[in-house]
Amino acid sequence: MTSIIDETTTSPVAESPARALVCRGCGAEYPLAAQHACYECFGPLEVAYDQAALARVTRGQIVAGPQNIWRYAPLLPVGQDPASRVTLDPGLTPLVSAPALAAELGISAPLWVKDDSANPTHSFKDRVVSVALTAARGLGFTRFACASTGNLANSVAAHAARAGVPSIVFIPGDLEQGKVITTAVYGGDLVAIDGSYDDVNRLCSELVETDEFEDTAFVNVNVRPFYAEGSKTLGYEVAEQLGWRIPAQVVIPMASGELLTKIDKAFSELVEIGLATAPSGGWRVFGAQSAGCNPIATALHNDTDEITPVRPTGIAKSLNIGDPAAGLYALEAVRRTGGWMDYADDDEIRAAIRLLARTTGVFAETAGGVTTAVLQKLVASGRLDPSLETVVFNTGEGLKTIDAVAGQVGPTYRVKPSLRAAREAGLLG
Ligand SMILES: *Cc1c(COP(=O)(O)O)cnc(C)c1O
Ligand SMILES: [Zn+2]
Repeated sequence: MTSIIDETTTSPVAESPARALVCRGCGAEYPLAAQHACYECFGPLEVAYDQAALARVTRGQIVAGPQNIWRYAPLLPVGQDPASRVTLDPGLTPLVSAPALAAELGISAPLWVKDDSANPTHSFKDRVVSVALTAARGLGFTRFACASTGNLANSVAAHAARAGVPSIVFIPGDLEQGKVITTAVYGGDLVAIDGSYDDVNRLCSELVETDEFEDTAFVNVNVRPFYAEGSKTLGYEVAEQLGWRIPAQVVIPMASGELLTKIDKAFSELVEIGLATAPSGGWRVFGAQSAGCNPIATALHNDTDEITPVRPTGIAKSLNIGDPAAGLYALEAVRRTGGWMDYADDDEIRAAIRLLARTTGVFAETAGGVTTAVLQKLVASGRLDPSLETVVFNTGEGLKTIDAVAGQVGPTYRVKPSLRAAREAGLLG
């Protein structure tokens, strides 16, 4: 008998370490499929892993991988086979040292800005979309969709264009032009809804149940458990970029709260499987919202698990989820690690965008302004320890929300093109 496969030349594709979907509420387990809620308790489902498979992953294996999120494929539910990926190859974004910002805020320990605006569509959403759509294509879906506050629509439309798959993305009708144009340009269907993100999300939850949308993967609805896992790569990257250390404090923006819970999960996994070391007192997770949409932070401040939905307002539109799906789990992570949450109003957000830009050279969208403003408040209130290493996450690009600071900055001089005019304007001192 002859074998069709020449074992000396084919390299085997590693298997997924994912084992099942497990309910975050009651622990019920389901197969790895397009399902996001538990049939028993309606709780959200999350990917569970074969711990033994994770424990076999080595630093060397990761370091030898590609210069993007797929270096962490051994720790992700999908994408082990490069040919299976639906992706713009996001990730390995800069971890920027921020001594001038630290000095201005009175932080004595190292301060870092993880700048995820450097991703292909300029927000951290490329990470979650690459993982969700790779899962979606593997599960046989032939159209890609999402309910978005802006950046997600941008990323899904771009991924679909790259993969040559039709897309239909849903957004609230009042989004910034910088989010609408950067999505529409990719040529998929873009549906603006007269309503809030929470209205958009509700509609998408209904559409996904219809026969007409049977072949459509909504990245944050029916394949949400996979989408959520993509956020872990932000945590992995920070640890790797710090030399396989977990920082003592992290400050993370919250919309649904998912990103925050997954960075915490990534740190736990790395420590559990021995790939990274935890700081001596453990790490503390801090969450940031805007004053116009602060249901999770308010629940923490009121010392309750009751998250009261709000009707979002304010300029931090990418974070405007009034009924946050992972809010409870974000509260849990912040309480368990001894962190805190706070929120910033529009003026504080604008000032913080400028502060971050002026001290680090990073131009953040409004979400990054929220996070920087909250970092400032956490130092002022004593909740954040200025003597411990801290990483603050900038998740999006300032050019997409340019109106936030458009009225505040501009030329510092206006001068005729002559030496005399330059001298008269005071440019020569
Ligand atoms: C979506 C988004 C977030 C938060 O995401 P969640 O996981 O829903 O909390 C943060 N920043 C930006 C720029 C986003 O677009
Ligand atoms: Zn359940």
